[in-house]
Amino acid sequence: KPRIFSGIQPSGGLTLGNYLGALKRFVAEQGRMETVYCLVDQHAITVWQDPDALRRQTRELAAGFIASGIDPAKSILFNQSQVAEHAQLAWIFNCVARMGWMQRMTQWKDKAGKNTQNASLGLLAYPALMAADILVYHATHVPVGEDQKQHVELTRDIANKFNHDYKVDFFPEPEPVIEGAATRVMSLRDGSKKMSKSDPSDMSRINMTDDADAIAQKIRKAKTDPEALPSEAKGLEGRPEARNLVNIYAALADMSVDDVLREVGGKPFSEFKPMLSDLAVDKMAPISTEMARLMQNPDEIDAILRRGAEQAREIAAPILQRTYDIVGMVR
Ligand code: ATP
Ligand code: MG
Repeated sequence: KPRIFSGIQPSGGLTLGNYLGALKRFVAEQGRMETVYCLVDQHAITVWQDPDALRRQTRELAAGFIASGIDPAKSILFNQSQVAEHAQLAWIFNCVARMGWMQRMTQWKDKAGKNTQNASLGLLAYPALMAADILVYHATHVPVGEDQKQHVELTRDIANKFNHDYKVDFFPEPEPVIEGAATRVMSLRDGSKKMSKSDPSDMSRINMTDDADAIAQKIRKAKTDPEALPSEAKGLEGRPEARNLVNIYAALADMSVDDVLREVGGKPFSEFKPMLSDLAVDKMAPISTEMARLMQNPDEIDAILRRGAEQAREIAAPILQRTYDIVGMVR
């Protein structure tokens, strides 16, 4: 049976980008395939995280998964650090992957900034840990946003080099699954930058916990051009901000971009933006209400993650042991 793995970092509050590019699609896969979903806290600390904030963000992320429709009885849901096999396999992959592969990654270039000497070693090695996250379950499908495609491709390279170096056919080459109208939701302030939970500007993103007023204000202030909306998708070429808002609308409404434009083509942003806010509030408010309810009981969240970690370890431990045997580790 094909197995899905994907993760989200507890590096801040969830955004609409995470919801449309990841969570909503995770829910859609549930029941169709075996689904393993991870709160990747070890990835989060590749950049500084205050310990109390990390704890809170991890529980809030778990609440976000569950409120979005991930059912712990149908999917394995846990945080990465509770399953040591991820980090153990990552060490082996650190020795399989090449420095040059890591230095070419756009996420490394974006997040390390100009002074790469001062970035953490973990930030550079991030894709090897991500490869371990996926391959320690022999996962075959990885639903992600467009920005993570490069890392899933690197995972394939690592699987391939491991199999080649050790003359085995052990790790599968997993496929990135990037589908839908919102695989790359852009910042509301800058149509050339993706929406991110770690962006310093709160106005750049819609948080899943934003209330109706905050959502309406952020959409009202979102950067746009002065033209009215086109009536066909090709009219969005060269208009990244307009394209972004239409893509968000389409993804929230489960419509194609063409169908959205058939409805709103010709309207000015002053009319379209309130429609988009209403739709976003409609779809997000029930989820944020449920998140707030779940957050009142952090012990229950922790118990769900502990149980998920046990289930995850049952799959991961034998795969790590076979990897050790292949590599020549004595036990
Ligand atoms: P950070 O800024 O800390 O990297 P992030 O918002 O990029 O946070 P991640 O935890 O790195 O979130 O990514 C979780 C998932 O959400 C990944 O599958 C990623 O591709 C997806 N994702 C992140 N941002 C967007 C976006 N703007 N549009 C669509 N998908 C996104
Ligand atoms: Mg990211």
